[in-house]
Amino acid sequence: MKIKRASHYGLCFGVRDALARALHRPSHVPLTILGELVHNPLVEEELRARGIRQGRLDDLRSSGTRHVLITAHGASNTARAQWQAAGFEVADATCPLVRRAHDQLRRLVQDGFHPVIIGKKDHAEVRGLAGDFPDASVILEERDILTLPSRDSYGVICQTTQPLPLARILLARLAEVFPKSRIQFCDTICQPTKDRQQAVENLAREVQVLVVVGGRSSNNTRQLATTGEQAGCMVYHIERHEELQPRWFAGIETVGVTAGTSTLDKTVDAVCARLEQFSTAQKLGTLEGIVR
Ligand code: SF4
Repeated sequence: MKIKRASHYGLCFGVRDALARALHRPSHVPLTILGELVHNPLVEEELRARGIRQGRLDDLRSSGTRHVLITAHGASNTARAQWQAAGFEVADATCPLVRRAHDQLRRLVQDGFHPVIIGKKDHAEVRGLAGDFPDASVILEERDILTLPSRDSYGVICQTTQPLPLARILLARLAEVFPKSRIQFCDTICQPTKDRQQAVENLAREVQVLVVVGGRSSNNTRQLATTGEQAGCMVYHIERHEELQPRWFAGIETVGVTAGTSTLDKTVDAVCARLEQFSTAQKLGTLEGIVR
């Protein structure tokens, strides 16, 4: 069995920098991360092991924590000001590409467009984007467009980890539903997301089985799995190497591996090492006999 890694996979620079900010701080300063630093249980375990908490503002008030960190997903200026007013020392690990999305949304609003965000309403990044613009509409499916208020112009941005084909579908539908309105789209999908999406599309054409590694609640990891499925691959979305089952690879000649932007390098390496083990066992005819 051949094991092929995608040409782009795993940790992006935004998550790498945010992790470094959290981990390389003076150890005598207790730190609480506002929300989840990334959507990955293995990262959470590592942070917990180093005494770093993750929480919400309400939990913090009673905890005595003074130092807090905004995650790579960013936050609204309104929330930032609230935390500072409540007396917290706020460090900021917002990814520059999320900042860019905030800047583009602000510019569109200043230019008179009704703000529309393509993304998941309850995602931290989208809450941050919408937080400074109470009128902003969040859409994710074509039917959401029917709930938009009728306006002369719409300024549209994307949650950084949404796939571009989805944005194109929604923009076309928006133009159909509001044919007289002006629509300005600002493509705020981040390059690491696009690179990983394109790479998984290419990889899915070359392999029979695709293993996608990353948190089950990670939006960009789930998108990678969906792309693999749409390309006709058998896809297994796992968070850690222990989940791999030998029977998934019986008779398989090529397996692809990719990972979301919040997946640690060592997690992907462990998955590939386990697959190598399966490959050897396949040659020896002992695959079925492998136990965890
Ligand atoms: S996925 Fe993109 S926007 Fe999000 S942290 Fe990584 S580089 Fe930044």
